[in-house]
Amino acid sequence: MSQSGKRKADLKVIILGDYAVGKTSLICRYIDGTFRKQDSTVGAAFFFKPWGPYNIAVWDTAGDERYSGLSHFYCRSAGAAILAFDLNCPKTFESLWARFGSILDAANEDCLKVVVGTKSDEVDEKTRDVSSEEGRRLALELNPDLDEAYIEKAGAPYFETSALDNKNVTEMFEYIFQRCLPLS
Ligand code: GDP
Ligand code: MG
Repeated sequence: MSQSGKRKADLKVIILGDYAVGKTSLICRYIDGTFRKQDSTVGAAFFFKPWGPYNIAVWDTAGDERYSGLSHFYCRSAGAAILAFDLNCPKTFESLWARFGSILDAANEDCLKVVVGTKSDEVDEKTRDVSSEEGRRLALELNPDLDEAYIEKAGAPYFETSALDNKNVTEMFEYIFQRCLPLS
């Protein structure tokens, strides 16, 4: 995992969401290709990842989301924000706008908001509380700039992922990069 404070990023991606929804695990899965079964909360960091000619910086929280809010500094000049909730815990879905909506003001004006339901491997379709339709609806509300033709082509910025099973994680990050970075 590469980590550096010196290189400049072409795109800053942040991740928001309640404690223990699986934010660090998502990043680990994508950057490292692994799933770690420990509490990986300690140690805020950002990780650099090349994507074509670009440098992507993916920022993780230090676990501050547990007690206090995240700082505006965390969001500053973010080009994309992953809003993560646990598909098996509806309270964490409500938190996305109740706790994290306002600090996104510090992100870029055109910041892409991607709603991500985590731990899809644990979902029981018969008893699930947050439907895919609700997730999709929130994603569309948060991104009023996305036009219908784009959504038709690329899909809504909503993903149901499993870091454990490595499901939809790469697809979610690719969606972000393809939307935010011009390919020549
Ligand atoms: P964070 O506080 O949001 O960064 O959450 P973590 O990434 O530290 O994960 C919190 C807990 O959820 C840990 O025990 C992880 O092992 C577990 N977890 C994370 N992702 C998944 C997943 O995709 N499936 C399952 N079953 N558990 C997960
Ligand atoms: Mg964490």
